[in-house]
Amino acid sequence: KTSSIKTVNPFNNELVKEFLPMTDAQLAAIIDKADAAFQPWKNTTFEKRAKIIHKVAALMRERKEALGKLATLEMGKLLAESIYEVELSANIFDYYADNAAVFLADKPLDVKTGDAFISYEPIGTILSIQPWNFPYYQITRSASANLMAGNTMVLKHASNVPQCAQLMEDLFLEAGLPKGVYTNIFIPGREIKKLVSNPKIKAVTLTGSEPAGASIAGAAGLNVKKATLELGGSDPFIVLEDVDIDLAVKTAVEGRMWNAGQVCVSPKRVIVPESIKEEFLSKVKAFFSTLKVGDPMDKETNVAPLCTEAAAQGVIAQINKAAQQNATIVLGGKRVDRPGAFVEPTIITDITPEMDVYYEEIFGPVFMLYSYKNIDEAITLANATKYGLGSTVFGNDTQEALKVARQIDTGMVYINHVTGIAPELPFGGTKNSGFGREQSPLGIYEFVNEKLIRTT
Ligand code: NDP
Repeated sequence: KTSSIKTVNPFNNELVKEFLPMTDAQLAAIIDKADAAFQPWKNTTFEKRAKIIHKVAALMRERKEALGKLATLEMGKLLAESIYEVELSANIFDYYADNAAVFLADKPLDVKTGDAFISYEPIGTILSIQPWNFPYYQITRSASANLMAGNTMVLKHASNVPQCAQLMEDLFLEAGLPKGVYTNIFIPGREIKKLVSNPKIKAVTLTGSEPAGASIAGAAGLNVKKATLELGGSDPFIVLEDVDIDLAVKTAVEGRMWNAGQVCVSPKRVIVPESIKEEFLSKVKAFFSTLKVGDPMDKETNVAPLCTEAAAQGVIAQINKAAQQNATIVLGGKRVDRPGAFVEPTIITDITPEMDVYYEEIFGPVFMLYSYKNIDEAITLANATKYGLGSTVFGNDTQEALKVARQIDTGMVYINHVTGIAPELPFGGTKNSGFGREQSPLGIYEFVNEKLIRTT
């Protein structure tokens, strides 16, 4: 019997290693241990926790090459991107190790008599469900804040990155994290919902697709538990009239090809003034001709395979449907003629609201170009999706860009930059992109009891 939990190298679609899903008894035992570990962990000092979490960061940096190679083997991203991800993750661990005590210090309230303050207290074991597109970073942003806050965590990673998942648990233990505070579980995604009702699970967080998020948040609601969700996005990238076209093209194309387009905040819909559309498109095509699809371990490659064969087939199906519905496939649109989960870098134009692709997120190297006659039309287009994660406004006049930014219905807007990631900046969305924030000071307040203590 084959397991769905396995490493398959997307560069050549060869099976590398399989893992057995855990039994119900094994899962229950892990949750029991996480629950038992909670009180002692809650009672450790911030200094003690910070020492361990800094050690996690140090170990990641020390081993960034090996960690990077493993991520590239399991989900196919460019090795340089994998290594960057390891460094980013280490920075996020350090950030919360350095700042958690300040963020969670008692907060006095202004009262007429006596004293009142908010005491921020951890709530227990968090069930964290994470996707494969950033195998280390997705673990990090959920674990860093919560472990520093004094919660414990049971983490279910995507079934195609089991070795990264296991490695992170081992690394936490090596750094000195007490057993039970962070534990990896192997279980297929479609079965995870049953764990939400376990009374020892106090809250859930999921990053992934909308159906998975809806299912988990539904289960959390039924069990009166808090959930945070970070789901897909179809980020607009609005180009203003007074723009440096070359810089806008470079930023948008590089942003779109990052991680072979499998980034929730990738600039998925590039929206340019009608007046510069032809020039913009010809520059995008010229940039595409410099892209090299190939082995993600090779430094020369700049477009990686997708994470799995199924993902590549899914993206091709979306492109084919767009073509059938009369969108123009300007470049690409097919599988690359070689083994592995490759899709050609693709440009699509002439997309109208009658087409499915107008509303869908494409998780692959697909550049979708739209044009607008006036800025109100651009804003309407930007907001014409159920998603609301990231977005970009690109133009020389910052004041103009800021005016547009205020009218975009997303959780994040970046001016003259693709939606980025930094430890000190919040990350999260609105509408069907989910709710809750990770990173920054905001990220640490999601799963704490903001407890009022009052003396009269
Ligand atoms: P999924 O939502 O299927 O996978 C993400 C995580 O959720 C994995 O750990 C997965 O486990 C788990 N999962 C799957 N089904 C369920 C379920 N019913 N209940 C609870 N958890 C579940 O995403 P895919 O990898 O299939 O990607 C599909 C789409 O999701 C992408 O095209 C993109 O739109 C979006 N996505 C967004 C991401 C983001 O960063 N916001 C990241 C990844 C995907 P398992 O692997 O075992 O199925």
